[in-house]
Amino acid sequence: MEVLIENEAGFCFGVVSAINTCEQSLEKYGEIYCLGELVHNTIEINRLEKRGLKIVEVKDLEGLKDCRVMIRAHGEPPSTYALAKRNNIEIIDATCPIVLKLQKDVKKAYEQCAMSDGQIVIFGKKGHAEVIGLCGQTDNTAIVISKVEEIERIDFSKAVYLFSQTTKNKEEFENLVSIIGQRMRENNNDNFFPTNSICKRMASRTKTLLDFADSVDAVLFVSGKHSSNGTYLYEFCRQHKEATYFISDKGDIDLEEIKKYNRIGISGATSTPMWLMEEIRDYVLASSETK
Ligand code: SF4
Repeated sequence: MEVLIENEAGFCFGVVSAINTCEQSLEKYGEIYCLGELVHNTIEINRLEKRGLKIVEVKDLEGLKDCRVMIRAHGEPPSTYALAKRNNIEIIDATCPIVLKLQKDVKKAYEQCAMSDGQIVIFGKKGHAEVIGLCGQTDNTAIVISKVEEIERIDFSKAVYLFSQTTKNKEEFENLVSIIGQRMRENNNDNFFPTNSICKRMASRTKTLLDFADSVDAVLFVSGKHSSNGTYLYEFCRQHKEATYFISDKGDIDLEEIKKYNRIGISGATSTPMWLMEEIRDYVLASSETK
């Protein structure tokens, strides 16, 4: 049996950088808090918790004082920074530079909206940390839509500044741009300003995953159960290749099932650590040798 790990699988640079920042801070201070899960991967979180990381929610911030709190790659709204300042909390900011730039762009567009009575529309998942951070740039006035059916909430007679959560699907975004554009034209309104703010890494990820799936007999897709990126990529891969299995750890692998394949591929979400995929590869190889 041959077991391969996809080259493009695993942490994106935003998450790698956040984990490095976290490890360096733990080394330096011994204990730090992090707002929400640093990555949507329980195994990686457990590893960092053993080194002193404490996961808290924004609502817990009110009760914290004189400590260090890390902001993860997804970013946070301005209200979080303001609260930290009030409570003398030192922020360790690991917001991904791409998300940071998007926050700035949304804020700038919001300022333009104030002059032109326009609307900020964000294509994203309601309640997702990155989307909360983006909405915060607009005093929470942005219209968040997660699917085309929700566009009726937009006033097509006014200016529309459209952005996307960085991890959304490129084709869905392009479809949305085309439909909103059509509605704007029907209203004789050419004040439509779409910005494709999908992370380039995400935009190319589906293609690299499918190419990889084509090169193997079966795919073990490794992801935390709560990772939206992981769930999406897994479903995407499975629609293309039926022999795709969702696993979070080696305990989820059905060894009897996979022994019918000669060439097994291991891939994962942007929140899946490489060490975990390597551990799974070694486990599958060792199990196949003992048969
Ligand atoms: S997916 Fe892209 S935008 Fe999101 S954290 Fe990773 S590098 Fe940054």
